[in-house]
Amino acid sequence: MESDRKKIIYEKLEAVLNEENPVFQNKDIKSVVSFYLDKRHFYLDKLKLNSLPAYIFEASILKSKADDFRHAFENLLPETAFYFAMKCNNHPDISFEMINNNYGLDVSSGLELDQALNLGCEDIVFSGPGKTKAEHYIALQNAGRVKILVDSFGELERLSALAEFMKVHIRIGVRLTTNPKMLWRKFGILPERIEEFYTQAARSAFVHFEGLQFHTSWNLNPSVQCEFIRKIGETLDSCSEECKKAIKFIDVGGGYWPEQGEWLHYETTNAGMVEKTIDSLGETTRKIHYRTESKPISFFAQEISNAIKQNIFSKISCKICFEPGRWICNDSMQLFMTVIDIKEPDIAITDAGTNTIGWDRFEYDYFPIINMTRPSLEEKSFNILGSLCTPHDVWGYNYFGEDLKEGDILMIPMQGAYTWSLRQQFIKPVASFIKT
Ligand SMILES: *Cc1c(COP(=O)(O)O)cnc(C)c1O
Repeated sequence: MESDRKKIIYEKLEAVLNEENPVFQNKDIKSVVSFYLDKRHFYLDKLKLNSLPAYIFEASILKSKADDFRHAFENLLPETAFYFAMKCNNHPDISFEMINNNYGLDVSSGLELDQALNLGCEDIVFSGPGKTKAEHYIALQNAGRVKILVDSFGELERLSALAEFMKVHIRIGVRLTTNPKMLWRKFGILPERIEEFYTQAARSAFVHFEGLQFHTSWNLNPSVQCEFIRKIGETLDSCSEECKKAIKFIDVGGGYWPEQGEWLHYETTNAGMVEKTIDSLGETTRKIHYRTESKPISFFAQEISNAIKQNIFSKISCKICFEPGRWICNDSMQLFMTVIDIKEPDIAITDAGTNTIGWDRFEYDYFPIINMTRPSLEEKSFNILGSLCTPHDVWGYNYFGEDLKEGDILMIPMQGAYTWSLRQQFIKPVASFIKT
């Protein structure tokens, strides 16, 4: 056997990474690939009548994620509500399925608000900085279905004036700044100013202050969320009884990383492992992608619920709201493309450009590229590139397959989050969408 003659050495990590998030060589990537290869005929069948590149959306996966997320938190807290963050995947079919899964929608613009209303959503939170008068107007016209998460004192003033002018009552919350460092300050008000916000809102007969919201980017573990919950608890100590009584909900936002962890390329992040193969022909090296661990949702739920019980419920009782995006829809969409040109022994060009996903994600993020036409669990080095006029148009540096030939169909799984929403018709047309 050839492998008997080979000696494989893995050299240790070259970069020092955060100790809280251990880094692994992704030895179990084969089980992920194998999971998708088991469904190979299902996918190829769906692709038959459609043009590629294409996204296949699997509503059953979305549903099971929505249920899992809800159950994780619902079982630990007395009163909860769940809102899907529409920006993460703005295809109307996904929002529609989420409404059917008993989620509300979290929207961040008049455009998203319109879509949520048109889909018949009855429970919408509208957050985000810089809301325009026209956006406030739509929210006020639909005040029974929309809560506005106000982002600043200026917004409160403008919204109160318009609500008063329209003689419409509206429920509001306030977004809190979680990170007072420069750019994150653009979101919300400092927690120290909750009482002042409450007092200003109380001056208007038309805006009704009901709660607090925060959102902490994306997290591989719940420590940032728990830390901020402690901070809110501390701040509540200095709030008046009336203000505390007014708080009926605390919305802890989104930012839960999928359980697979974060995969990255060695080539662009300068971390990971080097595989050295020594055989009779000498030594060859290969740079290997790696994975940063993320905690399962049950762990997030346990830690966040404990932090809430210790720091919040000892002072007020209220509903806890969630705005997950990525965790819910990441696994529900898979991307498919065709190999058009094998130009060199190590360069393949596909019919999809990165305009399909709207950004240069795969220069840094690693996802397995699976040859559905010539399947295999072995990963080979190959530059898989798109057809746009830019060298940043990269899908990856490896593929799983027996071989790679023109006409082969490639799959990149788990492309449901921050891809479809960001797609653009740049040079090439946008991908088609297939619902299953
Ligand atoms: C983006 C965003 C979310 C969703 O974040 P995910 O990382 O996709 O879970 C939730 N709430 C707010 C306010 C956001 O801006």
